Amino acid sequence: MATDCCECCCFFFLRHNRKDPEAAIPNLYKHSSEERLLAFSVDQEDRLLTHSASQHGTKSTFNNYGLPSDNNVSISTDFSKSMLPIMDPFKEWRGSWKFSRLDNTCENLTPHMLVKETHHVVRSEDSNGNKMINEYVRECKIGTGSYGKVVLHRSKEDDKLYAIKMFHKSRLRKLRISPTETAMMDVLREVSIMKELDHPNIVHLVEVIDDPESDHFYMVLEYAEGGWIFEGSGPVGGIGEAVSRRYLFDVVAGLMYLHQHNVIHGDIKPENLLIGGDGLIKICDFGVSCLFEDGDDEVQRSPGTPIFTAPECCVGVTYHGKAADIWALGCTLYCMVLGRYPFKGETLQSTYEKIVFDPLYLPEDLNPELSNLLKGLLCKDPKQRICLEAVANHPWVVMDYQPVQQES
Ligand code: ADP
Ligand code: MG
Repeated sequence: MATDCCECCCFFFLRHNRKDPEAAIPNLYKHSSEERLLAFSVDQEDRLLTHSASQHGTKSTFNNYGLPSDNNVSISTDFSKSMLPIMDPFKEWRGSWKFSRLDNTCENLTPHMLVKETHHVVRSEDSNGNKMINEYVRECKIGTGSYGKVVLHRSKEDDKLYAIKMFHKSRLRKLRISPTETAMMDVLREVSIMKELDHPNIVHLVEVIDDPESDHFYMVLEYAEGGWIFEGSGPVGGIGEAVSRRYLFDVVAGLMYLHQHNVIHGDIKPENLLIGGDGLIKICDFGVSCLFEDGDDEVQRSPGTPIFTAPECCVGVTYHGKAADIWALGCTLYCMVLGRYPFKGETLQSTYEKIVFDPLYLPEDLNPELSNLLKGLLCKDPKQRICLEAVANHPWVVMDYQPVQQES
């Protein structure tokens, strides 16, 4: 196991059974792989693909690459302005707005759904010997999170499937993620942010089970039955423009909602984009998310997953969380259409160097509108980076969709 990483001595999460680093992205992301927590000594590949647990209130630990002000590495023109009149298609979507697209229409969506809080837990078995947590009957494990596993359950009350993220409070309390914070605080922050969210493109938190008498802590989530966006596919060359466009549209809708509600996701990547039973993409994993004050999205923390990290997070103490989310969205789109990462070195350090200094490689035969969008998303200068409204109205994105309309 390589230990010659950069100076960042924080905790990272190690995924086992990882295949050849250069193999197709889907193989690298399989959520069925075992994960376990390691401190201070990790595999280089895993450092690139998994997020750090040391995020909150800490300054970036990767700030040893000064971006020379006279050496403008930005390769794009000004994408910060919308190419079409800016319209906020998803603002106040709950009531008076609708967004529609050819294959899927969402109108008058349900009002804010409350998150159930349960303060008792009964762990039992059903008549077939299946484990139960209150009314939820265990089906199978579907994922491994940074701090705990995710297990599919069926509710005896409504017969629906739910993904339950399970934690041990004692372990979380012992696990320091910074001098002043424990992993328990991370999970509580994740819960408090998710409680406020209600959008068709965001995984819904249904219930929190936290019994003071028990060491177990459960987050009952809407089950995204389609798995993550590369589930079952795995083409080395990506998943194609049409599918990528559909997915991007949903992620942009979810991300716009988050940013409008002062939430930075912090870890946008294919692994955290799931496909729901309704066919919509659901953004999941708010484990490194944070809230910001109105109008000030400046954050001071280590970013999410290294390979999806924006250049300004590699060089600065603070950065703007919204722009960093947009960069990660660009890396995600790049993965979807080209089947590879835009900037990936052999080591963590060389990856950060590539992110900061290397020009963006785009195949010459790539659709020019897609190229233009990728340049806008992966613009090194966060001030020049395309904004979400402009992405939503970008010619490549709106190609197959009906124009976003306000309800009359
Ligand atoms: P972590 O913060 O550790 O990455 P996640 O919330 O991303 O944890 O969950 C880990 C994995 O579990 C996800 O990548 C996904 O594969 C699976 N998972 C999480 N939530 C759901 C869900 N609601 N429906 C289906 N699968 C899920
Ligand atoms: Mg995740």
